[in-house]
Amino acid sequence: MPVLSKDVPQEELSSPTADRWSDVVWETAPAKVNLFLNVESRRADGYHELETLMVSLGLRDTLRIQSLPGEELEFVCHDARGVAGLATGARPLDLPPGPGNLVWKAAQLLRDQTGVQRGARLELWKRIPVAAGLAGGSTDAAAALRGLNRAWNLGLSLAELRELGARLGSDIPFFLAGRPAAICRGRGELITPLDLPLGLALVLVKPTEGLSTPQVFRHCRPEGRRPGVAQLVADLRRGCLAAAASQLHNTLQPAAESVSVDVVRLREAFGKLSAAGHLMSGSGSCYFGLCRNLGEARRLAGRLVARRLGSVFVTSVASGVRAA
Ligand code: ATP
Repeated sequence: MPVLSKDVPQEELSSPTADRWSDVVWETAPAKVNLFLNVESRRADGYHELETLMVSLGLRDTLRIQSLPGEELEFVCHDARGVAGLATGARPLDLPPGPGNLVWKAAQLLRDQTGVQRGARLELWKRIPVAAGLAGGSTDAAAALRGLNRAWNLGLSLAELRELGARLGSDIPFFLAGRPAAICRGRGELITPLDLPLGLALVLVKPTEGLSTPQVFRHCRPEGRRPGVAQLVADLRRGCLAAAASQLHNTLQPAAESVSVDVVRLREAFGKLSAAGHLMSGSGSCYFGLCRNLGEARRLAGRLVARRLGSVFVTSVASGVRAA
């Protein structure tokens, strides 16, 4: 069982997605990692053309949405990181408190686009490390779109929510695809959902310092089209982890290493461990090892905690998370 913290209500832990009262909706917001991320080119509109394989994780935030009779929006964020991992040197949560938060922006966008004149109290339990390449803000925004669609009885389809989500951020549509794995193209918003065997075990380390996505993209060298993702998917489907691990790829990693010594240290540390493969996620700074099973992930987590490289998490693709 995950370690429980006093600030997480029992309702959330026992039944996170159930409607507890008619006007309350709960949503879970999973983190993601990129098992493959190729930056193909820089586009004229300033975005980059990508091909990426994203998988969602058991590590997740939780959002409680209470519809309010007036038009007011309220947002509260709780630090629930003690539930998700062992923090070494974690700082206080540094997130926009109100209209700057992506949860708030999602609510505002939904109201602007549908004309609904409703308010809501949005309460977020934040476990996903910030500025980590785990798309914490994007998944929270997707959860807000899904949950408010239900709470305000808007009746929008997932495709309509994806279209709205893409206006707020390129990673958001993935979390509105309804599947834990997908190949994403374009600037990340063109989604091909995939059936992959679940339960891939991962150990993650988030150094104290996060990385800014725009900064890392500025340092990256696009690689053109590159084979690999189809082979990676085939290897994962066959359950051939060693072959899959040899296809892990992230164009952004050399760029991140050029601006963050933490990422270099993590690559070196993972290189001395027995994980099947290892890679930086997204634009960093979080780094993960792909493990044969949760037992191996836990063993490696113990060694990584001892190295004091950051907060360590053991999780798997779209299942539970364990404190390391
Ligand atoms: P991505 O991989 O999508 O680029 P990331 O995982 O690297 O994202 P996030 O944790 O999503 O980074 O944070 C990116 C920025 O978004 C931060 O500057 C943060 O202040 C802002 N932000 C706004 N709302 C949120 C939220 N609910 N959770 C996390 N970050 C948020």
